[in-house]
Amino acid sequence: MNEGKVNLAQMALRQIEIAAKYLPHTEPGILEKIKHTKREIIVHFPVKMDDGSVRVFTGYRVQHNDTRGPFKGGVRFHPDAHLDEMRALAMWMTWKAAVVNIPFGGAKGGVECDPRTMTSQELENMTRRYTWEISPFIGPEADILAPDVSTNPQVMAWIMDTYSIRKGYSVPGIVTGKPLELGGSRGRFRATGLGLFIVAERAARFQGLALKDARVVIQGAGNVGGTAARVFSDAGAKVIAISDINGGVYNHRGLDVAKALQCKRNNNCFTSGEIDGDEISNEELLLLECDILVPAAIENQITGENAGALRCRMIVEGANGPTTPAADTVLRERNIYLIPDILANAGGVVVSYFEWVQNLQELLWSEEEIYQRLKKILSNAFDEVKALSEREKVDMRTAAGMLGIGRVAEATKLRGIFP
Ligand code: NAD
Repeated sequence: MNEGKVNLAQMALRQIEIAAKYLPHTEPGILEKIKHTKREIIVHFPVKMDDGSVRVFTGYRVQHNDTRGPFKGGVRFHPDAHLDEMRALAMWMTWKAAVVNIPFGGAKGGVECDPRTMTSQELENMTRRYTWEISPFIGPEADILAPDVSTNPQVMAWIMDTYSIRKGYSVPGIVTGKPLELGGSRGRFRATGLGLFIVAERAARFQGLALKDARVVIQGAGNVGGTAARVFSDAGAKVIAISDINGGVYNHRGLDVAKALQCKRNNNCFTSGEIDGDEISNEELLLLECDILVPAAIENQITGENAGALRCRMIVEGANGPTTPAADTVLRERNIYLIPDILANAGGVVVSYFEWVQNLQELLWSEEEIYQRLKKILSNAFDEVKALSEREKVDMRTAAGMLGIGRVAEATKLRGIFP
């Protein structure tokens, strides 16, 4: 099935329409409100490059909904960053926070750039100027930023520093995912991948799938995919393939994950020949026979074109929006169990919430405390989505949407439409 290039904002709206069909008591006006973003900020700003030239970049911060709490969402640096992508990602953040029932709304930001071609100094200059431009609209009680594709704790530190300079005092609560030394939370770096594993383990149990020796395929080896690979491997699963943007490596007996990730760190790719496995393209990797497929790179990877050829039992979405609506239909028909992004990758926003709470209260929780709280929240959310999916006889994506969108709609109704 050829769907052409899928527009992410339309994909997110389509998901709302599907979930809304099962929420018959939601007033149409409320649904209409939550389909729209509240604020869309686009900034064009100059940056001094290392060769002395000045380049103008385009940055975004889209604030979808703050009915249940301050806006919250990551910042990505990517050549394809654009407004429609930000809209969809902001919306998914809103539902995600509602599915795990934490008091945040949804936002997303980013800068259109290729960080692989920029020096560290250029990245710092760009991050600081982007932060400066959007700073009137963000804040620890208004909109809290976090890492996403190609941003990391160092980038969060620059954002925190720039925002703090503007305010005249230190404001650690403006970002989550920052270094521990600056008020970051224990466990935040691993939170999304670890959360994905917690949800996958629970789902596997209900599916009668033993994780020990289960064959796992992971697309993307960054924060989410790399952490997930380590955690699955530590739990006794066989990670048989992993990739990055340049391609991946495959061994049907299972990869030595620690060695593969070390090799990637050393050579910036998996294809240097040092890993015991065969080179594989990202397209081929998705079609490998396995028990669990974890798309953890970018959106639009499982489409109407390849969904019919997938050979996995279960998909656990690490990335946001990796599966198109046409693919969803095919997967449902083929009985492939899918744990949607707004549930599977919610571990990051949950521990971000813990970090924000610790910053506001000036407390420091232990790693064990964080893990136990994370496990409890994600297990409850999984159970709620699963129960809804069984009760309404819908797939897990629709059920998660019903839960998240339903909570935001209810909060909107309670607050009322002003004036
Ligand atoms: P990252 O930048 O740390 O890693 C991204 C990985 O994907 C890298 O290995 C990169 O090489 C690979 N990649 C990029 N483009 C690719 C392509 N076209 N084909 C194959 N691989 C490609 O980013 P991350 O933080 O791990 O985020 C990955 C996904 O997870 C994104 O969709 C992000 O929105 C989502 N997510 C991240 C977090 C978080 O806490 N970091 C939380 C929730 C969701």
